[in-house]
Amino acid sequence: MSHHHPHARPTLPVAGEDHARLTIDLSALADNWRTMARRSGAARTAAVLKADAYGIGLEPAAKTFHHAGARDFFVATPAEGAALRALLPDVRIYVLSGMWAGSERLFFEFDLVPVIVSEEQLVVFMAAIAEGGDLPCVLHVDTGMSRLGLRVEDALALAEDAARPASFAPIMLLSHLACADDPAHPLNRQQLQRFRSVVKAFDDIDATLANSAGIFLGEDYHFTLTRPGIALYGGAAVNGVPNPMKPVVTAEARILQVREAKAGESVSYGASAVLARDTRIAVAAIGYADGYMRSLSGSGVPLRTAGISGASGVLHGHAVPLIGRVTMDLSHFDVTDLPPGSVRAGDFIELFGRAMPIEDVARAGGTIDYELLTSLGRRYERRYETAKK
Ligand SMILES: *Cc1c(COP(=O)(O)O)cnc(C)c1O
Repeated sequence: MSHHHPHARPTLPVAGEDHARLTIDLSALADNWRTMARRSGAARTAAVLKADAYGIGLEPAAKTFHHAGARDFFVATPAEGAALRALLPDVRIYVLSGMWAGSERLFFEFDLVPVIVSEEQLVVFMAAIAEGGDLPCVLHVDTGMSRLGLRVEDALALAEDAARPASFAPIMLLSHLACADDPAHPLNRQQLQRFRSVVKAFDDIDATLANSAGIFLGEDYHFTLTRPGIALYGGAAVNGVPNPMKPVVTAEARILQVREAKAGESVSYGASAVLARDTRIAVAAIGYADGYMRSLSGSGVPLRTAGISGASGVLHGHAVPLIGRVTMDLSHFDVTDLPPGSVRAGDFIELFGRAMPIEDVARAGGTIDYELLTSLGRRYERRYETAKK
């Protein structure tokens, strides 16, 4: 029994007290970076750290990659770059969203490399270096995604523009693949050819094209630097092939109650799950407020009306399906087929990770592992496992 001491200072929950936990395996993270570096052949290998390192935590991820040998890092925004600079003083940090008017100061103060994404940003950048002095930049060329980057013809014109100020010398060209997760897609080769034509026009310049999936497309796609993200975090970069990466994140939730319900009774909001048999239900302390999305529900959400089943968790080595709707803080799993008495309140159920591939759970929710990882809420206890000694 614990006792309430009226004069003791209350402390926040500590390890083991909270409702859900994330275990983040930093040695798997380092191994995954080394695997991608090996697959990148002669090219240098960066690490993409945007969105708090895909949800796992910027600081432990940045330090782990740096220790493994990474010296080039990509973030989405200058604020992310500034946070990273405080952790790693001696690396190159590229900001994928580039430099917009009003953000110039951050690039100089935190030594960030803007990835220029438009003609408009080019103007902002030119004005910034005219005033603030030398600053390297990367030029993003759109080769088939219509998201960010100069059009190929504009990039070619820029390369050939004799009037281009001598001070404007991008240190690298960048483009991004739209369909690299589908190796047979014809757009991959088209993007490669367009990118090559621009790289050639700029004459002897560094270049980067491949994200995680792009690295798997082979040497042609590697250029000078590769930019893996999801594969480092254990995600499945390429569709339709076994995922070669080690799982990094394991999410688990506490079972709050194990209860019996009778055939014909219903479970959760909307009564969408009507039980076909007497059922033992484990109620887990996890919900959509934790990023365990409502679309993962066993029934009662539009994606599920086609008869597609929802996600499953793993309890004591057995896969157990979600039943009914996922709610804000709670989800229900059918544990009828487990040995009686084997599931108890207080046990943890794995939602995804070592025993349940994250990409399978994401697919059951109509999404991708990227979204599942970057949506994980703030309520988890986070445990970082470092290299085994
Ligand atoms: C997010 C991102 C990456 C990393 O992509 P993954 O598919 O996670 O490997 C690389 N390049 C750009 C431009 C990105 O936005």
